[in-house]
Order: sequence, then C-alpha cells, then structure tokens
Amino acid sequence: MNQRFISVEKLSKAFPAKDGELVVFDDVNISLDKGEFVCIIGHSGCGKSTILNVLAGLDSPSSGGVIMDGKEVAGPSLERGVVFQNYSLMPWLTTLQNVNFGVRARWPEWNKEQVNAHSRKFLELVGLSHSLDKKPSQLSGGMRQRVSIARAFATNPKLLLLDEPFGALDALTRGVIQDELLKIWSETHQTVFMITHDVDEAILLSDRILLMTNGPGARVAESVRINLPRPRNRATIIDHPDYYKIRNHLVNFLVSRSGERPDDGTRNVDPTEPKTPDTPASSESSVISYERAAR
Ligand code: ADP
Ligand code: MG
Repeated sequence: MNQRFISVEKLSKAFPAKDGELVVFDDVNISLDKGEFVCIIGHSGCGKSTILNVLAGLDSPSSGGVIMDGKEVAGPSLERGVVFQNYSLMPWLTTLQNVNFGVRARWPEWNKEQVNAHSRKFLELVGLSHSLDKKPSQLSGGMRQRVSIARAFATNPKLLLLDEPFGALDALTRGVIQDELLKIWSETHQTVFMITHDVDEAILLSDRILLMTNGPGARVAESVRINLPRPRNRATIIDHPDYYKIRNHLVNFLVSRSGERPDDGTRNVDPTEPKTPDTPASSESSVISYERAAR
C-alpha cells in the first residue's frame, strides 16, 4: 500500500454534553505527502483546531489516530512545530534568543556560534535581521508572529502546524508575512498543515485545500488540488486564468455546501487518497481537480 507521510485515520472527537455527548467531527481521514503544503478551511467550530492539536500530540481523539512517518503520534515532539494565532514568545528574551531557545533544544550538541548563525538565517528570511536584539514588547504584532514562524521553521520539524497564524493581523501585514512564509517554505520544503479562514491565503499557499463541513459530525468533504504554478506571487496570482474558478469553487462550498451531511449521499471516505478508476475525476473543471469524498 502507498504509505503516506501523515495519515489521519478515522478520527473523531466527542465532548460530554447535557444530553449525552457532542460529536464535533467524525470519521475524519486526511493524508499528507512529505513536503506538501495543505490548508484546511471550514466554518468556525467544525473542529479544525482540535484536529491540529491532535496532529501536534497536544490533544487526544475520542477514536482514530494519527500516524506520522510510520509511527503513531502520542504526545508532543520536537518533530512537530506549532504556531498559534497568538503564539507567546518569551517576553524576557530578545528576538534572537527566542529563536535560539528552540534551536538549542533541537540540537543540544551545537555550540553558541552554530546556534546563532542558524537562528539568524531564519530571522533574515522573515526580514527581522534588524530587530535581533529587541524584546517582544518592542515588536509589532506582525513582527512577533514573524519571530514565531522563524522559530518554528528553524527547528526543522518534520511537520509544521499553523493554526490561523495571521488571524490577528491587519490585511497589509498579513500579505507581507504570507510572502515571507512562502519564501521560507520554498527554502525548506517542509510539510505544512495550516488552518485559515481566508480563501485567497489558502490558494496562494497551498498544494491542496481541504474543505470541512459544519459540525456537529463535521468531516472533510473535499480535497481541492491547487495546480497554479510556483513560485506564486500575491500581486499576480489573481491574473491567472484559473484563479477565480478555484476561488468561486471554494466560496461556493463555504456558502452553499458546507452544511451537507453524510446522508446527503456522501460517505466519509478519504478524499485525499489518489483517485482510482472507480472514483472518476470531476467533470466540472479540469483546473479544479477536486476529489469528492464520494457521490
Ligand atoms: P475550530 O477551530 O474549527 O473553530 P475547535 O476545534 O476549536 O473548532 O472546536 C470545535 C468544537 O468543539 C467547538 O464547537 C467547541 O465548542 C468544542 N469544544 C472544544 N473544546 C471543548 C471542550 N474542552 N469541551 C467541550 N467542547 C469543546
Ligand atoms: Mg480554531
């Protein structure tokens, strides 16, 4: 069988509720290949952060599991780096020291010069070479988030998990950091799983976008492959003839189809599995190669 780098298998999560339990999502199956950049989109409350936390090893599912590189995820690890929306840097450390902290934990055998040089390289990629000695309180929100991103990438985790990392930033800052994230990712080609609610951001960054239905009982209904050429540029990507076809498809899902239930005729099978002859490609459009869970 084709062994994927990450396999999320039959994941479900339920919380106790007044009258029984609330099943937030159910039978979620996701596969990621090594080096893939995958974004997940879905309405608030469908369970995206919970899935990401399970991938990180910070939360446990009610059933199902996550296999990374052949091993089951059970608890946090330096192999997985996480960036949250308001990732707290250590306020008493400078920009450089904050990144060094992660790098030293990852490579305890490195000397001070090696650690510094490595951290500086990643801070340069996010445009912070001039702010190495500033404390977080002296940085803007956007700069702080850049430090978090540099720190996450610098520790070279096998998997990077980003939970709406730009959610709290204004549109201009957000755009600049998206460019920096692309730059740093094109250097490292790490596997990234990112939550966003911004469809344009998802198209700019992703190899694939997973679309989740609403909870309770949410599931991944579709996997949309984004074949737009790389390197991508925020200013010019919208001129690509396929851009608005993809965008409209995503928006249409969120507006009209995210309320679909499995008994609408769809099943919870892995929409990210490679297509087989009996799961025909969508005839809707050749540019949006999306894989519907089933029909
Ligand atoms: P998303 O990131 O997609 O907005 P979350 O994963 O944060 O969604 O939460 C999914 C659902 O699970 C929400 O409806 C939330 O209220 C519920 N939930 C999360 N944590 C708990 C908890 N500890 N107890 C009860 N319900 C919870
Ligand atoms: Mg969330």
